[in-house]
Amino acid sequence: MSSDIQKIRNIGIIAHIDAGKTTVTERMLFLSGAKHRVGRVDHGTTDTDDDPEEQERGITIFSACVKFDWKDNHINLLDTPGHVDFTAEVERCLRVLDGAVVVFSAREGVEAQSETVWRQADRYNVPRIVFINKMDREGADFESVFNDIQPRLGGRPVAVEIPVGQGPAHVNNPFRGVIDLIDLKFLEFDPETEGKQVKETDIPDELMDDALLWREQMLEAVYELSEDAMALAMEGEEVPRQVIIQALRKGCIEQTIQPVLCGSALHGIGVQPLMTAVGHFLPSPLDRPAVEGFDPKKEDKTLARNPDPKEPFSALVFKILPAKTGDNYWIRIYSGVLKQNSRVYCPNRDKKENVAQLWQIHASKKDRDGQTESLAAGDICCVIGPRFAITGDTLCDTKEMIELPSIKFADTVLSMAIE
Ligand code: GDP
Repeated sequence: MSSDIQKIRNIGIIAHIDAGKTTVTERMLFLSGAKHRVGRVDHGTTDTDDDPEEQERGITIFSACVKFDWKDNHINLLDTPGHVDFTAEVERCLRVLDGAVVVFSAREGVEAQSETVWRQADRYNVPRIVFINKMDREGADFESVFNDIQPRLGGRPVAVEIPVGQGPAHVNNPFRGVIDLIDLKFLEFDPETEGKQVKETDIPDELMDDALLWREQMLEAVYELSEDAMALAMEGEEVPRQVIIQALRKGCIEQTIQPVLCGSALHGIGVQPLMTAVGHFLPSPLDRPAVEGFDPKKEDKTLARNPDPKEPFSALVFKILPAKTGDNYWIRIYSGVLKQNSRVYCPNRDKKENVAQLWQIHASKKDRDGQTESLAAGDICCVIGPRFAITGDTLCDTKEMIELPSIKFADTVLSMAIE
């Protein structure tokens, strides 16, 4: 079971409004095989509104969590609102996710609201990778956005990719792909296939010097993070890609660095490597610390739960969506196993709750939604059956009880109004 937990990535995309969060999400779903055509925000055809019959479900997808597979990983993508007014909502999501993709626009760069969400992610210790989007726009400038991250946000960006060209098709040297600095390869994307086809070739001679300079910067971070890498470098040996990835993963999880990638979500360029980077660098639930809470019967007794299916069940309700067939309680399971047709305890309300149905929204499966019999630590799912719990409450084993810290909102009234 633990190897499955290791493959889970509970992530959110956080961004300034208009940076391209919706477009990146759509692209990820499309490229992971979830959708046969891509929704365009501008044409009002994102998944939220393209199919009237699925409208209710579509809203569910984007208001809570959608699951898809990419390579070896099971990605739970949580919806995080982009508007500054929704910062209470963003905070709620940051509590239950393990890592985030921060999207910046290559043209507008780090904006005021990017600072707000970055600081929220700092507060909740959320490891992150950065995606510099809109590389195809007039005036796109990868380096200037990259150079802003340290002084404006206090991060330590480490580029694992650089763009090839910048700006739209009509400029002299348009954006057409990226150089993967780990493998030293040129990834050229075919816009005709909306990013599905990627051609991997050698780096053109004229770009090699630049690529090697950026790679050296990346390797400096790797040497700081990995003694093995340092030792190899001292002996003049090549550092194997797996050692580089492991070192950057460690730095990302410890939040001493943020791997940086770039692309154009609109044209699908760079989104496949971004999904691969989610698997490489962002933590699995096993990489996160145990959750701490207290014994609801003895409030001065603190307890901890490891992300282990063998531990007693504990979970946090992070969103409740009203539905005719029974309200959808979206929960993050921190420990233990949750089974359909079981009973759990809600310490905040001192009530037992029914678990009648367990659901996940699978983007990559044909039938999309999946009802399931049991789910384990580290996962995110929708429970139908509870009646008393409210957002921020704990659900736990009926005997081995724990109450997790409730989700505190900067502005509770505001967040209730949004619901
Ligand atoms: P959100 O507010 O962060 O969710 O941003 P959207 O995904 O709604 O995108 C905002 C606008 O930017 C829309 O008009 C998108 O079509 C456009 N957009 C998003 N990504 C790109 C990109 O990579 N290149 C270009 N040129 N436009 C983009």
